[in-house]
Amino acid sequence: MKKGLYKIAIIGAGISGMNCAYQLSKFADVTVFEKSRGYGGRMATKSIGEFQFDHGAQFFTAKTKIFQEFIDSFQEKGVIQPWKANFVEINNGQIQKNREWNENHKHYVGTPKMTSLCRYLGQNLNVELNTKINKLVKLNHKWEIISDESCLGTFDWLIITIPPQQAIEILPASFFNYMEQINSYKMQPCFSLMIGVKNSLQLDWNAAIIKNSKLSWISIDNTKPLRNLKYSIVALSTNKWARENIEKEVEDIKNSLLLELEKIIEQNIYKPMNIDIHRWRYANIEKQYGVKYIIDYSNRLGICGDWLIRGTIESAFLSSTYLLHKIINYL
Ligand SMILES: Cc1cc2nc3c(=O)[nH]c(=O)nc-3n(C[C@H](O)[C@H](O)[C@H](O)COP(=O)(O)OP(=O)(O)OC[C@H]3O[C@@H](n4cnc5c(N)ncnc54)[C@H](O)[C@@H]3O)c2cc1C
Repeated sequence: MKKGLYKIAIIGAGISGMNCAYQLSKFADVTVFEKSRGYGGRMATKSIGEFQFDHGAQFFTAKTKIFQEFIDSFQEKGVIQPWKANFVEINNGQIQKNREWNENHKHYVGTPKMTSLCRYLGQNLNVELNTKINKLVKLNHKWEIISDESCLGTFDWLIITIPPQQAIEILPASFFNYMEQINSYKMQPCFSLMIGVKNSLQLDWNAAIIKNSKLSWISIDNTKPLRNLKYSIVALSTNKWARENIEKEVEDIKNSLLLELEKIIEQNIYKPMNIDIHRWRYANIEKQYGVKYIIDYSNRLGICGDWLIRGTIESAFLSSTYLLHKIINYL
């Protein structure tokens, strides 16, 4: 197909959207619309002074050959690297498993930020940041993309890569058959606690899965490759605790999770230099067994994202890859 024959709009600049954009841009004119001011979606990093927190995805692994090949090429380019963390499992305050993540089963992070991979994928592409799409209109075989009452253009194909509950808000009412299907995917919330301290804590691990607690994960983010910054701790709540406390005041969430963190590490965090909370309403989803992507050839609509497979970066990559292969064949 001659490049430029089709115009494709992609909603969302997370890994699903940027993988679609990167691959499809070889065959078509692609524009990505992203509501935030940066790339990455839930592959997120927040910098506060000299502290840096991965408050979304913590790391990723590759279980499939296709994803491993994809990430190998980006490791060569320096935008991701394995994190050789000293990993533990803590159950009821006791360390039960302890192992070093090594070359045999790599755990990757973005370098120098979790956002680096998506930013790299988008570097030569047309990506409209700070652009929240609030309406999609299907008119005369074309898709109109609307933001704040303005039409941002008409497109032959539309790819939606945003969480299901947000997708339902913008799909035209005439697509109710998809809405019911999409609505059956229930994403779970999560709170990320971000703490920056002046002096290092006395811990002999830097990544921990926590069992039987309000917290599910603790990591020392400055131990990730190419961070080299001040001591930055990220602690994630469980999905269950987040669900039960989702509307509580930020201060209450902060205090409650900080106390839990101190209990687990058996140390007081005295006068932290930074303490912040991020509330993810749509953080992740359990393993799904249905379709891995949605394609509607007659309306030239594609829908993909981690939530169609499982709440991981690899799942987001796979869902978007299966979809984009179908679209490339069509083009
Ligand atoms: C706290 C947390 C911890 C996690 N830990 C891990 C982990 O350790 N390992 C792992 O593999 N995965 C983890 N994940 C999951 C992983 O982050 C996701 O699976 C993956 O990033 C999803 O990518 P995506 O592109 O499908 O969706 P997203 O990253 O959500 O991308 C969707 C994009 O669409 C944008 N958007 C939404 N609505 C609109 C709109 N109306 N207009 C324009 N743009 C819009 C959003 O801003 C976002 O950038 C974690 C997630 C969270 C939140």
